[in-house]
Amino acid sequence: MFTAFLIKYAEIGLKGRNRYLFEDALVHQIKFALKKCEGKFLITKSQGRIYVEAQTDFDYDEVVEQLKKVFGISSICPVIFAEDEGFEKLCGRVIRYLGEIYPDRHMTFKVAARRADKSYPKDSNAINADLGEAILKAYPEMKVDVHHPDIYLHIEVREKIYIYSVEIPGPGGMPVGTGGKGMLLLSGGIDSPVAGYMVAKRGVKIDAVYFHAPPYTSERAKQKVVDLARILSRFAGPVYLHVINFTDIQLYIYEKCPHEELTIIMRRYMMRIAEHIAKETECLGLITGESLGQVASQTMASLIATNEVCTLPVYRPLIGFDKQEIVEVAEKIDTFETSILPYEDCCTIFVAKHPVTKPSVNVIRRHERNLEERIDELVETALRTDELIIVD
Ligand code: ATP
Ligand code: MG
Repeated sequence: MFTAFLIKYAEIGLKGRNRYLFEDALVHQIKFALKKCEGKFLITKSQGRIYVEAQTDFDYDEVVEQLKKVFGISSICPVIFAEDEGFEKLCGRVIRYLGEIYPDRHMTFKVAARRADKSYPKDSNAINADLGEAILKAYPEMKVDVHHPDIYLHIEVREKIYIYSVEIPGPGGMPVGTGGKGMLLLSGGIDSPVAGYMVAKRGVKIDAVYFHAPPYTSERAKQKVVDLARILSRFAGPVYLHVINFTDIQLYIYEKCPHEELTIIMRRYMMRIAEHIAKETECLGLITGESLGQVASQTMASLIATNEVCTLPVYRPLIGFDKQEIVEVAEKIDTFETSILPYEDCCTIFVAKHPVTKPSVNVIRRHERNLEERIDELVETALRTDELIIVD
């Protein structure tokens, strides 16, 4: 029955003179999301609204599913259009609409008319009253409730008349791309994809870097990260994934540094390399899946040591989340099943039995000096052999 959707957006409506930038970004993201759907769609902006109109047959559920992934959308309203053929015809159209959508009509309603086209002969109050009356006559089981109705029946009079009453919640947030770009440290675990999702939701475009350590980590572990990036891209748009070969750096640290400090020192090199790529690709911050106290390398003291090597801000959106809360988001965004596939990640091979939980930055720095001889060259090689995979 529906051939179009009215897209409502909340937060971005508040952006004053920058508003059109946000709207354009939202239109762009909607176009991107609908590319994956069958059918052709016309997306238009008009008077603080965005409309998606199908120009061919399309799969309603598929389109709604896609739109639910576009950050910036607060709700998705399937609409029908009526030509202006007089008020009688409009009443008939609305009554048929209600009959189709609500087979059980024991409910309360309120007509909420908006007359954008001021040449329409009835003003919005008159539409509300007269249409309400016609509905009550057709469906005596329905009742008016102007304060807390079960349904708001929206009638918008424009060049055509738009009718809708169903609002499907969107994901909220801000359109991706309006908030700059961040570099996500993406491992194959549960946490980092969720961290990427949360920052993308605030309008940030996501690039990603994955450190792999062949042959200690397998091709399948890498594929899993690519798959996670692909799931993220459903929300965040195309993800530029940098795959860095970390093996020689890891082995070198393993050879030269105390084993209980391995994780921290490795994390510091990951951050350094990620920051290097971030700066070259105009990312404005790093993003990790760290959560306070989750493991030894995520205590406040450990985070001092990890953070110290970065000059860009490090966004840790999961910092106050319990594991269970992270898992809930992972399930909602569909990364969980992929994240728990049992392929080793590069940290599990080199973990110490008793990693430090309160590393001293001075001690860590001193031990990193053991690496002086070759580390610059190894980092350079790792950066030079960066494999870029564009995932969408
Ligand atoms: P995750 O579930 O995201 O793997 P984790 O609980 O396993 O997190 P750590 O292994 O301590 O935690 O990693 C902390 C963060 O460091 C990760 O959330 C991720 O952002 C980053 N990270 C860890 N390993 C890698 C890797 N191999 N490649 C890229 N980033 C990584
Ligand atoms: Mg991990």
